[in-house]
Amino acid sequence: MSLSGRTRLAGVIGWPIGHSRSPALHNAAYRAIGLDAVYVPLPVPPGKLADALAGLRAFGFLGANVTVPYKQDVAALCDELDEVALTAGAVNTLRIDEHGRLSGWNTDVAGYADALDEAGVARGLPALVLGAGGAARSVVLALARRGHPVIVIARNPQQGASLLPLGAADVRPWTHEALSSGLRAAGLVVDATSAALDPGGEQAMLASLPLDRLGEGTFVSALVYHREPALLAAARARGLRVQDGAAMLVHQAARAFTLMTGQPAPLAIMRAAFAQAT
Ligand code: NDP
Repeated sequence: MSLSGRTRLAGVIGWPIGHSRSPALHNAAYRAIGLDAVYVPLPVPPGKLADALAGLRAFGFLGANVTVPYKQDVAALCDELDEVALTAGAVNTLRIDEHGRLSGWNTDVAGYADALDEAGVARGLPALVLGAGGAARSVVLALARRGHPVIVIARNPQQGASLLPLGAADVRPWTHEALSSGLRAAGLVVDATSAALDPGGEQAMLASLPLDRLGEGTFVSALVYHREPALLAAARARGLRVQDGAAMLVHQAARAFTLMTGQPAPLAIMRAAFAQAT
């Protein structure tokens, strides 16, 4: 990568941020289209978010992505929000115009819908979402807008209830009964939990799921992207079609790339960069 006196900056804000694949994806895309720009990790310690945004403006950043733990907090600090970010209450992409105005966008929602489109998942299938954290918010909104009736099963009833205004038709507790009837009725199952981030938790979650209730044509999706989650391996072994979180990650990055640069995203290059970074 060569830097010039005119090299533009972009990056990803989070804490911690060392694990992020975003720099690999965006820098590969910049190289592919010959854009004189560089995308860097931007670790922002607690309490420093507003200072970091002032820094982005001061340095004339093209924009930035935003990840854990700032997707909600950053929304209140933007000059304007796009409709999806406003509805989701979460921003994952910032754009800065030539006057320093900061707009907040959410490309996770459309990125997840793009991933389902790419896999040819039919619109309107009854969907079951497991978990009710930040990622589930984007998934539920994407599914509702794709015309899926959505049932959420979550351990935390309050967190689950917060998905009703985003389009979930019903929220149920994490019980054998609810999981059993939910899996049986679903044409699309989405694991939006973070269980796979901890191998012990993942096995415990898998053990709680009566996978024998899944219908033959059910599509099983998970948001984890650093390795194949055990749920997807188990679903594949049952002959079901599956998709991990890489597709959503690449599509949200592609949309963020276009928002920040105004150029179509080189999707195949970004996908290859993701695979190489893994
Ligand atoms: P959060 O911490 O906000 O939410 C996690 C959710 O999972 C909570 O509802 C939590 O329930 C639930 N959960 C965790 N462990 C279990 C378990 N063993 N059984 C049942 N429920 C469980 O995380 P995020 O929503 O931010 O992230 C979720 C996953 O999505 C992560 O793996 C993350 O890497 C991935 N992700 C992928 C993206 C992509 O582009 N592919 C984008 C964003 C996230 P409780 O509150 O009861 O603990």
